[in-house]
Amino acid sequence: MGTDFENLSGINIDKPPIHVRHADLERQDNSSFRSDCPACKVGSIPVRRNMETMEIEPIDNCLLCGQMVIYDDFIEVANKKIAERLTPDLMEKLRKLPLEPWNGED
Ligand SMILES: [Zn+2]
Repeated sequence: MGTDFENLSGINIDKPPIHVRHADLERQDNSSFRSDCPACKVGSIPVRRNMETMEIEPIDNCLLCGQMVIYDDFIEVANKKIAERLTPDLMEKLRKLPLEPWNGED
């Protein structure tokens, strides 16, 4: 132990981002969101939040090797994450709103 982590630290930080499906990644520690890194297999990808809006972001990176990943199923993850914070009342109100899937553009 230890040596692996040191050798892997930051090695993929300059690599191009890889496309993943969050649903296909292995979860760590019974977490719903923290996943094994598909690049170094040891580090974890926590699902990053925007520090200002506190919303989760479609781009994430491994805490160990620095590999950047893009969640192709981001909208599903976002919906699940948001759903966890919602009360039944709010859910009911949201169900009545027309929702457009995120198309990757602002
Ligand atoms: Zn990694």
